[in-house]
Amino acid sequence: MFDQIYEKIKSYDNIVIVRHIGADPDALCCQTALRDSIKLTFPKKKVLATGTTSNRFNYLPKLDKFEELNDTLLIVVDTPDKKRVDFSWNIDVAYSIKIDHHPHMETFCDIEYIEEESSSASQIILELIFNTPLKINDDIANNIYTGIISDTNRFMFNSNSKVFGLISKLFNEYAIDTSNIYEGLYNRPINEVRIQGYISQNLKITENGFAYIRLTNDILNEFKVDVGSAGNMINNFYYMEGVYVWAIVSDDIKNNIYKANIRSRGPVINKIAEKYNGGGHKMASGARILEESQIEMLFNDLDNACKEYKDKMGVDLDED
Ligand code: AMP
Repeated sequence: MFDQIYEKIKSYDNIVIVRHIGADPDALCCQTALRDSIKLTFPKKKVLATGTTSNRFNYLPKLDKFEELNDTLLIVVDTPDKKRVDFSWNIDVAYSIKIDHHPHMETFCDIEYIEEESSSASQIILELIFNTPLKINDDIANNIYTGIISDTNRFMFNSNSKVFGLISKLFNEYAIDTSNIYEGLYNRPINEVRIQGYISQNLKITENGFAYIRLTNDILNEFKVDVGSAGNMINNFYYMEGVYVWAIVSDDIKNNIYKANIRSRGPVINKIAEKYNGGGHKMASGARILEESQIEMLFNDLDNACKEYKDKMGVDLDED
């Protein structure tokens, strides 16, 4: 299918690349890496990578201002469903392509390339580049490496021989500046370090191995941390002894919702997240909860999933 995608890219002069709302580094990196690779290969094409982002990602390549173009090829990356695409669908889309690594939710593009086992959407863009005449340079290589590092949490997840083979080729052929990449991804304001301490101190843990915390708007204000950064803390709580699933629910007053970030190292959580206006991967999901009363329901569902998992496995996670 990479050939088919390449042929479509080659045949359109106007290309818009979009990804999911609530941008994260993998989505932003694969979006801008694909844009830059197409521009390097076909300098005369108009290629835009659009959508809203946050100041938190200022270290990543910049997005483009949206422009209305005719006869556009739309490429949607890292997004399984139409409603979560950061795009208003108000232009003349002549043809559309989806490239994603989430479990399939719905078909909404003319061709869809989904590689669920892929570590990241950035990995698929790298494979697309390596398997077609699309060009790559040091900047694009660094951008793609950043996306893979971010979604695998420095190769903690979904990292197999294929990923390491691709990374090896990337390092052999391009100058990857790992110090600069880790500085961008992991350097954070002291406020975030302090709220991480608050979460550690106040996390509640059930007897079934479910850990959860609610971050109200008052708490976010006290620590001067925005909803996105607070939710991102979820990635700093892997490997808590006896905990199978953990969740952070933060008040998002700007969007009038409660934002849930959920992670697991056992029970499947994306089906539960889907019940609360959410979704994601089996072990990493999120939700936009509409009613406050649903927060407790979500916590109960996740706790039950831990109980079922524990019963099924018949052992505690970290039992000696
Ligand atoms: P996060 O906790 O925001 O890093 O999200 C983890 C995963 O869940 C990512 O793959 C997101 O795309 C997905 N996700 C987060 N929020 C939602 C949502 N409201 N609906 C569907 N998927 C989501």
